[in-house]
Amino acid sequence: MSKLKGVRIAVVGGGVFGLMTAIAAARRGAEVRLHEPAPTGHNASAIAAGMLSPAFEALESGSDPRLFAILNQGLDAWRALGAPWVDGDALGSGAIYAGFGDVQDISDVADALETLGIEHRILSGEAARALQPSLSRRVSSALIVPMEGRVDPAQCLPAMARELHQLGGRILPEAVPVGVGFELWRKQADAVVIAAGYASAAWAGQAPALVGLQPIKGHILHFSGGPKAGPVVRNGEDYVAPQRGGAVFGATMQTDCADVGIEPEQVQALHARAVELIPGLAEVPFSARAGVRAATRDGSPLAGALGGGLFAATGARRNGWLLAPLVAETAVAAIAGEATPHAAAFDPLRFG
Ligand SMILES: Cc1cc2nc3c(=O)[nH]c(=O)nc-3n(C[C@H](O)[C@H](O)[C@H](O)COP(=O)(O)OP(=O)(O)OC[C@H]3O[C@@H](n4cnc5c(N)ncnc54)[C@H](O)[C@@H]3O)c2cc1C
Repeated sequence: MSKLKGVRIAVVGGGVFGLMTAIAAARRGAEVRLHEPAPTGHNASAIAAGMLSPAFEALESGSDPRLFAILNQGLDAWRALGAPWVDGDALGSGAIYAGFGDVQDISDVADALETLGIEHRILSGEAARALQPSLSRRVSSALIVPMEGRVDPAQCLPAMARELHQLGGRILPEAVPVGVGFELWRKQADAVVIAAGYASAAWAGQAPALVGLQPIKGHILHFSGGPKAGPVVRNGEDYVAPQRGGAVFGATMQTDCADVGIEPEQVQALHARAVELIPGLAEVPFSARAGVRAATRDGSPLAGALGGGLFAATGARRNGWLLAPLVAETAVAAIAGEATPHAAAFDPLRFG
């Protein structure tokens, strides 16, 4: 019998971490209650591009082989998930790095991929456009990393909420109290999972490990047209993720900003770069959105026991979608008192 059969688990937050952790716990027979006060679409998970990008995200984080291994296992976990709401083709849609004439750019990226042992192929501009036809004609050289993938947050989040319902879990549209009110509230559950994104830091009074979370605000543009299929395109720190609803272009990295206000100058700069990469986006309507990522010092999330019946599932910086299955598995195993491969790397108490 599952160690979690009948265990009352309360999950704080209905982003990708909260939902995936709740589903993993409910599958093991736990009585799950998820608390989410915000309407659908109002969190980092909903505005995210949905890229599953171990290769380019490892490069973005300084080519740390340890981090690449974890990110890569995140992608494997998505492939093993076999959820009906995941588009299997998109998991292997690949990602192109596009260069504007500067061959050195491409060879630097190729060298970095080589160092991490990541399979890639150099492409001409024409060959890149054969894979992603909307790409600017000014792109003269490129490379493709076939292993990269993506999921569609707009499709996955409602489907995950439905799956949780089907498993007997409940979603309550109410905020969990912080401070003294929390002590009384938590008595209703045997285990409480804090999965409130950067807002998780509000429970640092009960769990000091959460005090180390750092906010990183991100602006992102959701177009109602543009590429809807094919590989993600990257250039420098920018990316275009094709999604069913339209192309998603991102994103800013505004360290130590925890608000979600839209800043017109950030939007204008993003839009100009989006049009440079995909000229057809110039005429496509878009909405600008902003969300807050929660980051830790070493780039790995916090998933596991915080002490006193509290557990964490938060802090994946730019890679919450990619790491969600691993975070959920690690957090739920910690509640069951089981060891998992990522327990040490994700241990919320690892910073002392
Ligand atoms: C612009 C941008 C682009 C991104 N692109 C990607 C990408 O392409 N690939 C990728 O892997 N990752 C990406 N990320 C990162 C990813 O979105 C996050 O790591 C991930 O969504 C974090 O999920 P979460 O569930 O921890 O937090 P959130 O999605 O922020 O969810 C937390 C939830 O907690 C709720 N909450 C807060 N306070 C309370 C309370 N008191 N009681 C109950 N609930 C509460 C909030 O309402 C919220 O819904 C991106 C992030 C941003 C900002």
